Amino acid sequence: MAAETKTTCPYCGVGCGVIATVDEAGAVSVKGDPEHPSNFGRLCSKGSALAETIDLDGRLLYPEIEGERSGWDEALDLVARRFSETIAEHGPDSVAFYVSGQLLTEDYYIANKLMKGFIGSGNIDTNSRLCMSSSVAGHRRAFGADTVPGTYEDIELADLVVLTGSNLAWCHPVIYQRLAAAKTARPNMRIVVIDPRRTMTCDIADLHLAIRPDSDVALFMGLLAHLATSPAVDQNYIAAHTEGFGDAFATAAALDINDLLERTGLPAMQIREFFRLFETTEKVVTCYSQGVNQSSSGTDKVNAILNCHLATGRVGRPGMGPFSLTGQPNAMGGREVGGLANMLAAHMAIESADDRDRVQRFWSSPVIAAKPGLKAVDMFRAVADGRIKALWVMATNPVVSMPDADNVESAIAACPFVVVSDILKDTDTTRHAHVLLPSLGWGEKNGTVTNSERRISRQRPFLHVPGDARADWWQLAEVARRMGFGAAFDFDAPAAIFAEHAALSAFENNGSRDFDIGARAGISARAYDELSPFQWPQPAGTAAGITRFFAEGGFFHADGKARFIAVKPPSTDRTSTEFPFTLNTGRIRDQWHTMTRTGKSARLSAHIAEPFAEIHPRDAIETGISSAGLVEIESPHGRAIVRALVTDRQARGGIFAPMHWNDQFAAKARIDAVVAPITDPLSGQPASKNVAVAVRPL
Ligand code: SF4
Repeated sequence: MAAETKTTCPYCGVGCGVIATVDEAGAVSVKGDPEHPSNFGRLCSKGSALAETIDLDGRLLYPEIEGERSGWDEALDLVARRFSETIAEHGPDSVAFYVSGQLLTEDYYIANKLMKGFIGSGNIDTNSRLCMSSSVAGHRRAFGADTVPGTYEDIELADLVVLTGSNLAWCHPVIYQRLAAAKTARPNMRIVVIDPRRTMTCDIADLHLAIRPDSDVALFMGLLAHLATSPAVDQNYIAAHTEGFGDAFATAAALDINDLLERTGLPAMQIREFFRLFETTEKVVTCYSQGVNQSSSGTDKVNAILNCHLATGRVGRPGMGPFSLTGQPNAMGGREVGGLANMLAAHMAIESADDRDRVQRFWSSPVIAAKPGLKAVDMFRAVADGRIKALWVMATNPVVSMPDADNVESAIAACPFVVVSDILKDTDTTRHAHVLLPSLGWGEKNGTVTNSERRISRQRPFLHVPGDARADWWQLAEVARRMGFGAAFDFDAPAAIFAEHAALSAFENNGSRDFDIGARAGISARAYDELSPFQWPQPAGTAAGITRFFAEGGFFHADGKARFIAVKPPSTDRTSTEFPFTLNTGRIRDQWHTMTRTGKSARLSAHIAEPFAEIHPRDAIETGISSAGLVEIESPHGRAIVRALVTDRQARGGIFAPMHWNDQFAAKARIDAVVAPITDPLSGQPASKNVAVAVRPL
């Protein structure tokens, strides 16, 4: 008889519920879970093709040492010995973990516990650094905690939805479906898209603001100055629940209108219309994603947006609020357990001596990281200059996805000891591993993920485990045991890890932290297995999670008030005579990250089969580029060769290229080899959207 399993899609941060069916012959099919409150049965093209990506072709099935198959004991003993020896000789900061928003929360929890609580270093960072760390930093500055105030339903309830730096149609397709359906049902709903490119999302937009790259801070400063002198300003909310309005307003008001027009490149009429819509619409949700986050001013962009919602008191009420759209399936879960180098666990602060003491006592650990560790770009710099001598990479492919990817590859290749846990045997990163550890893939893994609306859902296994593959948490716990930390890592199943994670979230929690799932502390294996999707926080003794935050204040700064941030417009033009174009990287609809899974589906590859770069027709003429011809994109950091797509969707002076392709699928197509390792000074997030490049026909 066919067996059905309720699980969660492993791709984007929408976190759609999936029902996987295995029939009598072992064939797998998938459909959307109509009972999952994030997608109500919807799936996008990637989710619908999941069954086409789970074959064993190319799988890493057994541990390997220096390219030779080994047993688990031999491989784990070697990893534990080399990490222990390196720490003994060079100190705890000489080792690092680089992990992933693809890990389940339970994997992440163990990795963070081992690095911060037992090795004693903060050197665990994640590819989520490339995804949403500017939103984390912006939330913490404004709210005092990394809290998304609203829920997907707010996007449907809004009368105005502003999408900035978000190609929702391709990058969060099921939220786009929900938004499009809401607009069809309520045609008076207005949608504004703020994006240098005319993307597919613009198909449902009433207004498209094709701003210059990185001019979002100026645009939202202009909006704040406008709102502050309009009837939309909520002086009662500002007085009761915030600090810093005066400075933020004064800084915003000092931005001259001509400067605003020059920076954004927008016609005055379009700016006026946007400001009018925002001012006159009470129910407004502003969604932001990688166009905001992946910037050297990403944190300021987030705070410029939050300032406008705080000034109008439009936070945490139905149909109102700022909304960070997370890229990965479990970037949020990673944040919850402290998977970023500058966080601790359960949203506690690594900078706080009280928090460090609390976590150390809870873990009964011999040591606790005394300071934040290295963020992703700095971590690979430390690998390159020899400060990090042992590196463990899990569930990610930094040789393709990190900025300055050629130098990242050289750094990993020269690192004295590299461990890679992956499901695939041959990736650009696994090629440089001294030890390869076979991990479980989607359909085999067992644990939880958290999506963009703070909803925790189960990923459940329904496939036989192939070869000797093992869960990432198990690999970490076995290495921890071999390093002498056995008692603290004596977990027999992910349910026990989740129970401890939930208990830590409630430990000495007097309501000063946003993340609290104490209601699930000590959860039984059976209850964990049956866990239905729920939103955090859900403190002990409560029957359901909290849906919205901050309508009545209650921010997480010590005084309970939010902070306005007096942001200033950055200097953003990086072009020069030699590198006169601005490269903007991003996703396409039917591929995920470095294509190691979606690349297996012929159906998905049929959407766009080759790496490409969009260029405006006039720029193509001036550079001698012909449609569908090969072009070389070059920066001081590297080069890539892709096919030209000449289109007026792309603004003049800009190039768009997707980040998916690697050298396995197409020679020299790794666009991140071109991307400069420039980062936001607060969040450490790389600026993948504004890279000075030259482009020429090949
Ligand atoms: Fe999966 Fe995202 Fe598509 Fe939902 S929208 S099916 S989570 S890729």
